[in-house]
Parts: sequence; structure tokens; C-alpha cells
Amino acid sequence: MDCLFCKIVAGEIPSQKVYEDEEILAFRDIAPMAPVHILVIPKAHIGSVDEVTAENSGVVAHIFQVIPRIAQAEKLEKGYRVVSNCGEHAGQSVKHLHFHILGGRQLSLEMA
Ligand code: AMP
Repeated sequence: MDCLFCKIVAGEIPSQKVYEDEEILAFRDIAPMAPVHILVIPKAHIGSVDEVTAENSGVVAHIFQVIPRIAQAEKLEKGYRVVSNCGEHAGQSVKHLHFHILGGRQLSLEMA
């Protein structure tokens, strides 16, 4: 499958890893939009939020258990934002489910 994030999981494309276990990987965004900008992904390919099902949602729960640990390690005690772009109107550019962790400065309240 020609998926950028699957290639990162496979180690075919380098990434700046901040967390990894059997199920998920977190790495720094190549074009950071905040002082801390990390992407958290399931290792198994899920295309987007639209493809989350009863069968595969366990990994999403796991991602949300790990996000606070990453935030703590990145010293985001003042807060952070978690975003997942889904589909064309949201501007999803990589078709592998990912959650952006953004923080390290006061973020705009603009949501759209
Ligand atoms: P989205 O636009 O929500 O699909 O987010 C995709 C994100 O992946 C963007 O913020 C990109 O900067 C980021 N990205 C693209 N290629 C890489 C890469 N090789 N390593 C790290 N982040 C990447």
C-alpha cells in the first residue's frame, strides 16, 4: 500500500519518534504549526476517523490513553489541542488516521 505513514511505521521513511509501542507510534510533524506538534498514529492502517469501527476502535482508546503521557513528557501542562482532520473539507492530506497534538504556546480559538 502506498501510504506515507505506513512507510514511517515500517521504517522506510525516517521520523523523529517520541513514543512507540506495539500498537501505536508518535513522531514530530515535519512542518510544525506550534512549538510542539506531534502526530500519533495506529501502526495498523486505518484511513481516517471515517474508518473507525467497533472492531478497530480499541487502538483509538489506546491513543487517547497515551496522549496525556506524551503531553506530560513534552511539558504541555498549560494545555494542548488534539485534532484529527477527516476528508477533503478538513484538509486531510495523509490518508492514515492520525491525531495532531499541538501546544507550547497560546493557541488560537479559531476552529474553522
Ligand atoms: P493532515 O493534513 O491532517 O492529513 O496532516 C498530515 C500531517 O503530516 C501534516 O501536518 C504534515 O506536515 C505531516 N507530515 C507529512 N509528511 C510527514 C513526514 N514525513 N514526517 C512527519 N510529518 C509529516
